[in-house]
Amino acid sequence: MTDKSDPVECQEILARLEELVSYESPSRDKTALDRLGARLAALLGSAGGSVEVVPNARGGDHLIARFPFPGPASSRPALVLGHFDTVWPSGTLARMPFRLDEGRAYGPGTYDMKAGLAIFLNSMEKARNSPPPRPVWAILTSDEEIGSPTSRGLIEDLARQCAYVLVLEPPLTDGGLKTARKGVGRFRLEVEGKAAHAGVAPQEGRSAIVELAHQILRIQDFQEPGAGTTLNVGVIQGGTTTNVVPASATADIDVRAATSAESARIESAFRAIRPITEGTRLSVTGGFNRPPMERSPGIASLFEQARQIGGKLGMTLTEGPTGGGSDGNFTAALGVPTLDGLGARGAGAHADNEHIVVESLGERARLLAALLNELKVQS
Ligand SMILES: [Zn+2]
Repeated sequence: MTDKSDPVECQEILARLEELVSYESPSRDKTALDRLGARLAALLGSAGGSVEVVPNARGGDHLIARFPFPGPASSRPALVLGHFDTVWPSGTLARMPFRLDEGRAYGPGTYDMKAGLAIFLNSMEKARNSPPPRPVWAILTSDEEIGSPTSRGLIEDLARQCAYVLVLEPPLTDGGLKTARKGVGRFRLEVEGKAAHAGVAPQEGRSAIVELAHQILRIQDFQEPGAGTTLNVGVIQGGTTTNVVPASATADIDVRAATSAESARIESAFRAIRPITEGTRLSVTGGFNRPPMERSPGIASLFEQARQIGGKLGMTLTEGPTGGGSDGNFTAALGVPTLDGLGARGAGAHADNEHIVVESLGERARLLAALLNELKVQS
């Protein structure tokens, strides 16, 4: 991507990013999340948004900001999605402080996705000079990294009222936008066997571990890599001690699927599981927490427009799919055209070398502002 960044603008966004990183915000720490949420609410307000704090007893409060740009009365808003929780526990800053090195800004949550939030704030401040043709709504949530259990309904309610959705998650490594994401499924298989003394009466036992071993090999065959469906039995547990035939065993399984047809096939395959060892019982819980984000004609049209808008700014925008999920999966699955990956360039999400490329901050802010000004959707 060509860099046409204004260094002053980059420095302003960088200062905002450093401030946001200084507020640690792990997904399960309500006190910490609400502290950052209050600061973000103030920043959204001073950028011109009217801010609604949505109380959340089960986690950090969520924020909705509405920027009432004057447009034709009928125009539905654009929705911007972001999250301010991170995967990093409180105290991480002590060993992984915010720091600059060779044009990169390192620190917990820089790339995923506090840089995206800083970019959004900057583009809303600038939007006062060239207001977009429709209202801009934003929802910033506190639980994306744990699967959005308390924000999903809010996100979907807002998306249904909006013309399109832009997601502030990190882009592909070359800065490309994410136009397809796999759906994410989590399943748990529990096996109930029958305990018995392994030396005295082994024939009376029914080994839950042996049954689980059979089932794992069958479950592996649910995969269809050619169709984008992969599966990982990531955790198993079972048994009590070596001289007891194990009465219970469980497996936790992560599944990724590229299409809703494939996620439906996987769900029915799990429901159809039956015991192989006589006298054992099985139960399956879980399902697809995030539906696949498929590259619909609406998404393809948004990307083509974005490519041209980026071109006018001197950027060569690419697109691609990713195996990871985001809140964009929810909005795309509702049929609302969604473009994801509008955050800063960088690398190392969820890893110790997490960082963003400083010079990308200004270019991404200009791209976001231009998209909000120029994207067109039917209806
Ligand atoms: Zn994220």
